[in-house]
Amino acid sequence: MEQHAQQPPWPLTLSTFLSFARPITEVSVLSSVEYVFAEIPRRLASRARSLEALPFIVGMNPFIARTLQAYRRSFQFLTMHPPVKTLQENAFFAVQLEAFVQSHANDIPTMAKGFQECSRYMTPEQISEFLDGAIRNRIAMRLIAEQHIALSRSLMQKENSRDHLGIVHMSCSPRDTICMCGSFVSELCEATLGASPKIIIDGEIDATFAYIPVHLEYILTEILKNAFRATVERHHKLYASATSTPPIPPVVITISPPPPLTSHARVGPAFLSMRIRDEGGGVPSANMGRIFSYSFTTAGRGAEDSLEDADNGLGGGPYAAQHVGGSAAVDGNGGTGGLFTEMTGRSLQMGLGTIAGLGYGLPMSRLYARYFGGSLDFLSLEGWGSDVFLKLRDLNDAGDAEI
Ligand code: ADP
Ligand code: MG
Repeated sequence: MEQHAQQPPWPLTLSTFLSFARPITEVSVLSSVEYVFAEIPRRLASRARSLEALPFIVGMNPFIARTLQAYRRSFQFLTMHPPVKTLQENAFFAVQLEAFVQSHANDIPTMAKGFQECSRYMTPEQISEFLDGAIRNRIAMRLIAEQHIALSRSLMQKENSRDHLGIVHMSCSPRDTICMCGSFVSELCEATLGASPKIIIDGEIDATFAYIPVHLEYILTEILKNAFRATVERHHKLYASATSTPPIPPVVITISPPPPLTSHARVGPAFLSMRIRDEGGGVPSANMGRIFSYSFTTAGRGAEDSLEDADNGLGGGPYAAQHVGGSAAVDGNGGTGGLFTEMTGRSLQMGLGTIAGLGYGLPMSRLYARYFGGSLDFLSLEGWGSDVFLKLRDLNDAGDAEI
């Protein structure tokens, strides 16, 4: 493991990553599997090393220890696995790789629980730094594994799509994704808060760009949950005792496309941008510095049914700022695990997730946006509402981006 952790990365740029799918052939799939065997163990080893480097008392925490065990087991599985030389061997391996991805589905909630219990022994900055690295690494491992699974499947089914290069969608539609995530978040919001705002999409509504749909779904779902919750809670607060209430103000999403591939304006990285604007009252300036901290949340008992006991003695209530105490349901069985797993259309349909409460939505969304060089910025007009500015790299010509 030591050796693997110290090995220099086999630098994987997006263009190499995509080249396995251009086109998908027996040879390209067998190169992809070689990459899986080289790169995933190295990343598992480096994560295991950084878990071992945590303060001793933190490493003793059962949740942290469990995560370390899971990394070691997976490392062993991959390094002991005989080489995959034929398509038949690969078909068998791809099934095991799916089980591998599945077995790590709850890593982040498990670690989150561990850090909640250990918040006394590490500063929020240390925890943030650790989690940023851990989550980034996990995004990469998952990309590599899922790309290989997708390529293996396409080869077996003899499909070579121009539009889908494995898990990358070359003409991903933000509008369609907003509609899909929006309907899921509306249901969740209605169920939790009894009402939900409408979404208005304007700007270049037909824009498309190349991206990884599950990443876009994750980010939009988290931003919409925040905007919806803020909007409805503010509306309830403003009109709590009114006899007639005005309609709930909509969440407005403006889409700005990347310049066309042929455009002269397209020098340097190209981005698709979105602004998600709500009238949910904004964020009090006292909280602005903390909204991107892991586990910072203002969700209290009122907004959070699936937390077993959100009252951590800090005053509680839907408007009181708090760091989630040791009691949040983060074992992934109660549905909150859905917050951390990259949600697919299917898991969205299954209704996984809660409207708010763990304080991981903003920091994780920003990590996803930054993964390929994009950004996520939050501006608050205190007393009125918030704007989230999302810039996502168009993967059409992001060949140099590292995985
Ligand atoms: P959670 O939603 O679980 O609380 P997030 O990381 O998504 O965690 O958000 C952290 C906090 O930032 C929220 O609890 C809320 O106080 C604040 N926040 C985020 N988005 C908005 C918004 N659109 N309007 C007002 N407050 C927001
Ligand atoms: Mg949130």
